[in-house]
Formats: sequence, C-alpha cells, structure tokens
Amino acid sequence: MPAQAPAVTVPHGMETCPFCRIREGTLPAHVLYQDEEVLAFLDIYPCAQGHTLVVPRRHAASLAECPPATVAALFHAAVRLAGAIQEGLGAPGFNLGVNDGRAAGQEVPHVHVHVIPRYGGEGGGVQRVVKTRGPVQPLAETAAKILAALRR
Ligand code: 5GP
Ligand code: ZN
Repeated sequence: MPAQAPAVTVPHGMETCPFCRIREGTLPAHVLYQDEEVLAFLDIYPCAQGHTLVVPRRHAASLAECPPATVAALFHAAVRLAGAIQEGLGAPGFNLGVNDGRAAGQEVPHVHVHVIPRYGGEGGGVQRVVKTRGPVQPLAETAAKILAALRR
C-alpha cells in the first residue's frame, strides 16, 4: 500500500485569493513582470491608465509578514515598473501606495504595491488618502510613543 502523501497546508484564504490565482495562472491577468520573489500585473479596475499591482509570489496579508528581501524586491520592482509605465505611457509622475489592513482600505488580503501613474491635473497625492483630518497632537508626544515602540 503506498504511503499517504503528507497533508499540504494552504494558508487561510489562499484557495480563493485572486492574486494567488493569477500567480498560478488560473485567473487571467496582464502580467508585466515576474521574478523569483514578485509578480506585477495591471489592476483590473485602474484608477489611471497603467495602474499596476506588484505582489509577492508567496501569499501574505501584510507587509509585516514579508521577509526583508521580499519587501526590497517589491519596491525595487515597483520603482522599475514605474519608470517603464512613465516612459511607455507618457506619465510625468507616479504614486506608490500600500493599503495594509482593512482600516487602511485593503480589500484583497494579499500584499500589493499600487503603482499609479499620474498624468497631471488629477489633484491629490498620498497625504490626501485620508479624507478627514483628526485633531492635531503635539509632535513630541507622537514621536515619543513611536520611538518607545521601536525600542521594544
Ligand atoms: P486594495 O484596496 O486591496 O489595496 O486594492 C485591491 C486592488 O486589486 C483594486 O485596485 C482592484 O481593482 C484590484 N483587483 C481586485 N481583484 C483583481 C483581479 O482579479 N485582478 C486584477 N488584475 N486586479 C484585481
Ligand atoms: Zn494570495
């Protein structure tokens, strides 16, 4: 009797994750770039012509779960793609963005860097992704809290 194959653990959500399916080739996408760490393809609902997503090959919900080499590869690819998108489509600028966590607007729970070419005249910028401004806190207190967390 043949030995039973070891159970394969599929991380929760990965079976239906659209970006894992694109990586596997079971969901079509306009793939622009891939290497051993990352994959990049056009966003299906672009907010500007050439809007591209760069994702790690390995499923992870948050950047915090990615090893440093993967984070580096994501941003290296994003900057390279931004240059090609600018050149190919005549965009004079671009925004890079990551929605990390539901509170930040993340809808697909597989890390992705948005590369959004900018053609001018659209307004906005990454500081404007938060539509309401909270009360202003003293910067020194804010810095102290973050520095304490960094030291932990
Ligand atoms: P989030 O809000 O999670 O940062 O953005 C997810 C992005 O993924 C959205 O801009 C959305 O248009 C894009 N997206 C969602 N599903 C698919 C898909 O199946 N294929 C592609 N190419 N993009 C997708
Ligand atoms: Zn995934």
